[in-house]
Amino acid sequence: MEKKTRPYQKLAGIAAAPGVAIGRAFVRNEGVPDIPKRKVSAHQVEAEAERFLNTLHQVGEEIRRTQRLVEMEHGAELAMIFEAQLFMLEDPEIKKQTLALIREHQCTADRAFSVTLKQAKKMFEQIENEYLRMRLSDVMDIEQQVLIRLTGGELRALNTLRANTVIVAHDLLPSEAVQLGQRRVKGLVTDGGGTTSHASIIARSMGLPTVVGTESASRQIASGDMVIVDGDQGVVHVNPTAQILRIYRSQVQRQVQRQRDLSARRSLPARTRDEHEISLLANIDAPEEVQQALDNGARGVGMYRTEMLYLGYRLPSEEEQVATYTRIVEAMAPYPVVIRTVDLGGDKLSHVLESSPEANPFLGWRGIRICLDTPSLFKAQLRAVLRAGVKGEAQLLLPMVSSLAEVRRARAVLSEVQEELHQAGVPFQESCKLGVMVEVPSVALQADAFAEEVDFFSLGTNDLTQYTLAVDRGTARVAELYDPFHPAVLRLIAMTVDSGRRRGIPVSICGELAGDPLAVPLLVGLGLENLSLSPGLIPEVKEVVRAICQSEAQELAAGCLELKTGAEVRQRLEEAVPRIAQ
Ligand code: PEP
Ligand code: MG
Repeated sequence: MEKKTRPYQKLAGIAAAPGVAIGRAFVRNEGVPDIPKRKVSAHQVEAEAERFLNTLHQVGEEIRRTQRLVEMEHGAELAMIFEAQLFMLEDPEIKKQTLALIREHQCTADRAFSVTLKQAKKMFEQIENEYLRMRLSDVMDIEQQVLIRLTGGELRALNTLRANTVIVAHDLLPSEAVQLGQRRVKGLVTDGGGTTSHASIIARSMGLPTVVGTESASRQIASGDMVIVDGDQGVVHVNPTAQILRIYRSQVQRQVQRQRDLSARRSLPARTRDEHEISLLANIDAPEEVQQALDNGARGVGMYRTEMLYLGYRLPSEEEQVATYTRIVEAMAPYPVVIRTVDLGGDKLSHVLESSPEANPFLGWRGIRICLDTPSLFKAQLRAVLRAGVKGEAQLLLPMVSSLAEVRRARAVLSEVQEELHQAGVPFQESCKLGVMVEVPSVALQADAFAEEVDFFSLGTNDLTQYTLAVDRGTARVAELYDPFHPAVLRLIAMTVDSGRRRGIPVSICGELAGDPLAVPLLVGLGLENLSLSPGLIPEVKEVVRAICQSEAQELAAGCLELKTGAEVRQRLEEAVPRIAQ
């Protein structure tokens, strides 16, 4: 039967990772298929039981394959996420009950499994313990995978995708986004999310052109549709005309050429025309990204987000962490590696920490708050960082700090850990710098006081924007209000830079703003000399740095600080940057 061509549609969203991707859509459907109430005849019962067991086995193999792929591309820690699913899949109770329904009530395998899981889900929902309740999402994941296969639907786990696939989903969890780094995935489109939601950040660090906040892409696009993801303009073309396709194909060719040109220039210094050196550092999520960072000319890691180590089924041990951090520190030496202590909470939930549901997770138990309340977890991480530091230079960075009391408590724990290591005769990096993320407005407003007690500042403009403007960074509905160019945010950045300068401590920026070529002249003009960004964006940002003069950038920044709205700032930059960048 000839396939009918579906009509052309253009969907608008938010540009979340630059570049253009052209491919066939794979729509990640949520929910489970409808299960009809059918019975099997008595003589089919054993065959049905076998069909069920075979399916469990196949799904298990799929999960293991994905696990191996993730392990190869992103390391063993991340691959642990799948252990929870395997554990559920192999649960003897679920297997026993399903088989009983098939054998004793002549239910079909799909019906039997669906009934069993309904009961299991009910049980999980009623559990008070957050750790166990969190496993509900694993139960649902398994339910979907097994039922799709049993009902004859094609299970397309990410590892079975065809080449040149564009993933279309309602939303992605950070733990799912890490699976996208496979060569077959070319782009990403989501209904929800914002440019600084963690799934977007991960997609950007993997160099996947991404459009988020389309609201309805997962309903409007069907698997198999031809899709163009324009991650520069924030639009998605579905089933494009031949002419649109031609235009974008030549854009992709130019993109490839541009990457080649930039790569040839990667060893040039990041120095302005008036000879001011700017350090370009890498933000990384996993040790596997270090090579990409070095290849793109990074002069150190400005922020290693360690959360990925904690999203699995158990907490990483101190030894596992030592191994991971050592890999990074060694590979980067003699450049420093800033290791951010774990920033769980918000949209990054751990399976293993007991916490109750919160109405406002981004304002709740997150980052340093969790660490200070969970000393065993915090101390193991601090010990691991200090131990890895002997192979080069590690620095510690505390996330989500809102008051000096937290810095003091963290310092006290750090001293305790140093003393313990000393007593135990374990080699460790004796002097380790301790910095704070400036991502809660209170820290920027009190930067002078903080500067007396910390060794450096790192501006987290993703959260600083969210907390200053009271706009959730991951909600598409309010994404237009989320504006890191808002003068209020710029003033907090300027205050932090000034305090750092007065007190003689370095200030860097590791929010996504540092990777935006339009923002770079403004940031340099505000006095920032250390920019930490996704490795893939470093060459482009270096081009901007090399094209500007610091003195002109300073004038530009001073002018922007006087403007009244983010839109005016953007407009000023759009006019001025092409003029001053030569
Ligand atoms: C930030 O908030 O700007 C930041 C860099 O941290 P994260 O995006 O991990 O919250
Ligand atoms: Mg943050």
